[in-house]
Amino acid sequence: MEHPNKAFGYAARRETDEKDVAFKVLYCEICHSDLHMVKNEWGVSTYPLVPGHDIAGIVTEVGSKVDKFKIGDRVGVGCLVDSCRTCQNCEESLENYCPRSTLTYGAKHAAEPLLCAGITVYSPLRYFGLHKPGLQYFTLDGIIDTVSANHRIVPLIGVPKSHGKLVMVGAPNKPLELPVFPLLQGRKLVAGCAIGGLKET
Ligand SMILES: [Zn+2]
Ligand SMILES: [Zn+2]
Repeated sequence: MEHPNKAFGYAARRETDEKDVAFKVLYCEICHSDLHMVKNEWGVSTYPLVPGHDIAGIVTEVGSKVDKFKIGDRVGVGCLVDSCRTCQNCEESLENYCPRSTLTYGAKHAAEPLLCAGITVYSPLRYFGLHKPGLQYFTLDGIIDTVSANHRIVPLIGVPKSHGKLVMVGAPNKPLELPVFPLLQGRKLVAGCAIGGLKET
């Protein structure tokens, strides 16, 4: 069903700089983190707030030093648009952990083949060694937990085999209960992971 109100927006809110790409936003993804932001469940929202941090559209303007994109190209932008490029995380292509990174959440103004939902699962699969052929996800070697609401994780810790991993990528706003004993039995690992760097996308 078509919405009666037509909405148009531009990703760049400032002047297009020599290394910038401006594009007309045609599509926008909403993931659970946007719902957290709308309700200020993480306590960091500033209003007015436009939800949606994966955006795709058509290039309308390119800066003089841009050579990878031209007007009319289809582009997509994920959660992260800038970082300091000098800290250790940036040097290791882990811009997503840069303390001075610029996110698309309620922020300003880049192009990646893997957007939020893709990289959020792909990055931990690789980092925690769950991507190798022959491993069995969700039953033995590891679980990627995408649940964004409060939930009991003890039953999940019990599912993977010994040395199995439970990787949290959802972000419930209240602390989860984590009794240690289930970790000791089977040398289990509970970890977290937030999107991925530019190289990985
Ligand atoms: Zn950095
Ligand atoms: Zn997302």
